Amino acid sequence: MRLADLLEEKRVVLLDIEGTLVTGLETPKAYPDALELVRYLRRVRKRFALATNTARLSRDDIARVLRRVGIEVSPREIITPMTVAIELLRGKRTRVFLIGEAGHIAEAVKHEWIELVYDETAEVVMLGASRDLTYQQLNFAFRLLLRGARLIVVGGDLYAHGAKYGDSGPFLMEGAIARALEEAAGVRGIRTGKPEETFFRTALSMLGGEPSEAVMIGDSERTDLQAARLGVDVVLVRRDGREPKHVPTGARVFMTTSLSPDAQLTLLAPREYS
Ligand SMILES: [Mg+2]
Repeated sequence: MRLADLLEEKRVVLLDIEGTLVTGLETPKAYPDALELVRYLRRVRKRFALATNTARLSRDDIARVLRRVGIEVSPREIITPMTVAIELLRGKRTRVFLIGEAGHIAEAVKHEWIELVYDETAEVVMLGASRDLTYQQLNFAFRLLLRGARLIVVGGDLYAHGAKYGDSGPFLMEGAIARALEEAAGVRGIRTGKPEETFFRTALSMLGGEPSEAVMIGDSERTDLQAARLGVDVVLVRRDGREPKHVPTGARVFMTTSLSPDAQLTLLAPREYS
């Protein structure tokens, strides 16, 4: 089966960004086959969204970065863990203590039902990755949780590679900080990034498609591949041909070395965790 044949069967497409469309968002280079795929999706008018775990950049920032390397997308076509966190609160004005970087804040202030507060009246602690995190912020969040505030973890990754202040390498992320808060406060937060069901379900409801009508295209075994557990067919792109260690059940999982619409897909047999 060619990638184009699978896409023809599907109403909606979720596309990972880093490692799938571009090498990374810090110093992006677009993969030529990914450019071909995006042009194809536009030509056949397929409904798609970019589904990423990067929330430290706003959707406008991500769209700007992608446009620079030839991927024309609008911010509204991008779904980040912050998009999902905001959707979870839609419909009810909520007082939120937000820990995050510029991108988290830029997204939060766009929505009239989110009121950012920095005092004990906060009903929700929204915890994003912040590389400027202070003990004071962390402890304030801890006290809010002890008083009954809900915890929304914007994403859930334990660490990610990035660059800031001239320093590049792995950085601790919100998932790791969340574990400390959860352990100390005896609570469990909601995580809004891939591979969480919350992420995929929210993304699909925003796009208007059922799991069986959707395909997730991405490079990560730990995140993108897990959409299969919800009944979403997955195309795992591995340009180096490396097979995943485990293949979940629940939907079809294909592998490909290229996202060119004519690329051949290989159906993988389920290989569960032992
Ligand atoms: Mg990726």
